[in-house]
Amino acid sequence: MHPHVIVVGAGFSGAVMAERFASVADQRVLVLEQRPHIGGNCYDYKNEHGIVVHQYGPHLFHTSKQEVWDYLSNFTTWHPYEHKVLSRVDGKLVPLPFNLNTLEQLYPSQQAAYIESLLIDQFGEGSKVPILTLKKASEPALRELGQLVYDKFFVNYTVKQWGCRPEDISPEVTARVPVVVSRDNRYFHDTYQAIPSEGYTPLFERMLGHKNIQVETSCDALRRLTLDAATGTVCLDGEVFSGKLIYTGTLDSLFSFVDGELPYRSLRFDYETLPQREFQPATTVNYPNEEAFTRITEFKHILPCNSAHTTIVREYPQQYDRANPEADVPYYPVFTDKNQDAYERYRQMTLRFNSLTVLGRLADYRYYNMDDAVQNALSTFASLHK
Ligand code: FAD
Ligand code: UDP
Repeated sequence: MHPHVIVVGAGFSGAVMAERFASVADQRVLVLEQRPHIGGNCYDYKNEHGIVVHQYGPHLFHTSKQEVWDYLSNFTTWHPYEHKVLSRVDGKLVPLPFNLNTLEQLYPSQQAAYIESLLIDQFGEGSKVPILTLKKASEPALRELGQLVYDKFFVNYTVKQWGCRPEDISPEVTARVPVVVSRDNRYFHDTYQAIPSEGYTPLFERMLGHKNIQVETSCDALRRLTLDAATGTVCLDGEVFSGKLIYTGTLDSLFSFVDGELPYRSLRFDYETLPQREFQPATTVNYPNEEAFTRITEFKHILPCNSAHTTIVREYPQQYDRANPEADVPYYPVFTDKNQDAYERYRQMTLRFNSLTVLGRLADYRYYNMDDAVQNALSTFASLHK
C-alpha cells in the first residue's frame, strides 16, 4: 500500500484522524501502532469471566460536546453510566468530589449546616470551587474547611500521583476534582455520560475498519520513519514520503531527545480477579492516605455482567523511566511551567516539517479527557481538509 497519510498511534487522536482521512477525504491511510492492539489507553477486553476490563485503568466517557457525542455515536451504541467515586477518609467511605453530602458525613450536623450556609453565601448553590481557592477563602471557617479537605483528600493523593504537592503542579490538575456546593454525588457533570455498550475496542475496530485504512500493530513508527530537520523531509522505510504525517506519540522521542527528556508520570496496574460477586460498593474507591496505591476500580460496576467473580485494579503511580519496561509508559505529562517551556521547544521543531501534524495527549503535552482528544482531532482534520 502506498499511503497518502501515515498516522502514528491508534488511540482516539490517531483513530479519528485515520477515520476522517479515509472516509471524508477518501485517502489511503496507514496507521502504525507500537502496542499489539488498537485503542491507545482506552483499550479494553472481555476476560474469561465475561467482565470488560480496561487494560490501562478505568475509562469513563463523559462529554458536553455535542459534536463529539454525535460523531462517536456513528461507531457505537451506549450503556448509560454515571460515575460515582468514594474516598476512604478517617476509616469512612465518603462521596468524592467533596460535596454537601460529604460535609454531613464528616461534621456534626449543626456545624455542617453552618458551613453549608457559608459555602452557599460565598460561592453560590451548585458552584464548583477548586481546593486551592477554598483554602484561601476570606471567611475563616471556609479556610478551615479548605485546609481539612486539602489535608484529608488531596495532599497525600497528589504526592502519590505526581510526586509533588498540589501547589507545585498546575492548578488545573486538582481543579478537575473541585469542592461541589450541592448534593450531587456524581464524579462528572457533563450532558452525556455513557460507556460504549460493547466496550471501547469494538468502537475503535469500527472506526479503523474502513477499507482505506491499513493498521499495523506492534510497530514502533520511529523505526520506520526518519525526519530530516535540515530539509524538512520525512522518509518511510528509507524512501521519501510526500504525504501527510499525523503523529500522536511523545515529541521528545520523535526528535531523539535532542533537547532532553520531557517529564511524564507512569502507573503500575495491579489486576486481581476474586471469587466473589462484589468487592466494593462503588466503581472506584480512592485511598488518599493509607495505601501506596491511589484507587481501586471494580469493572463490573461499569458494564454490568452476571459473573460469580469480580475483577478489580489497583493503581500505583510511579516515576516514568523509558529504560525500564515496568515503568516505560508515559501516561501523564507532568504539568509545570518549566516542563511546558521544555515542551514548547520541541513543538517549535515540528514547524520545520510542512507535512507533519502533531496532536493528542502525548504530542500536545496536555491533560486531555477522551472527548478533548476526539474534539481536537475533529477540528485538526477540518483545518487540514478544507
Ligand atoms: P493515547 O490513547 O495515549 O494513544 C497514543 C497511541 O500512540 C498509543 O497507543 C501509543 O502506543 C501510540 N504510540 C506512541 N508512540 C508511538 C510510536 N513511536 N509508534 C507507534 N505508536 C506509538 N479520559 C476520560 O475521558 N475519562 C476517563 O475516565 C479517563 N481515564 C483515564 C485513566 C488513565 C489511567 C489515563 C492514563 C488516562 C485516562 N483518560 C480518561 C484519558 C484518555 O486516556 C486520553 O484522553 C486518550 O487516551 C487520549 O488519546 P490519544 O490518542 O491522544 O492518546
Ligand atoms: N485528586 C486528589 N485526591 C483525589 C482525587 C484527585 O488529590 O481523591 C487530585 C490529584 O492531584 C489528581 C487530580 O486531582 O491527579 C485529578 O484527579 P482525577 O480523578 O481527574 O485524575 P485522573 O482520573 O485523570 O487520574
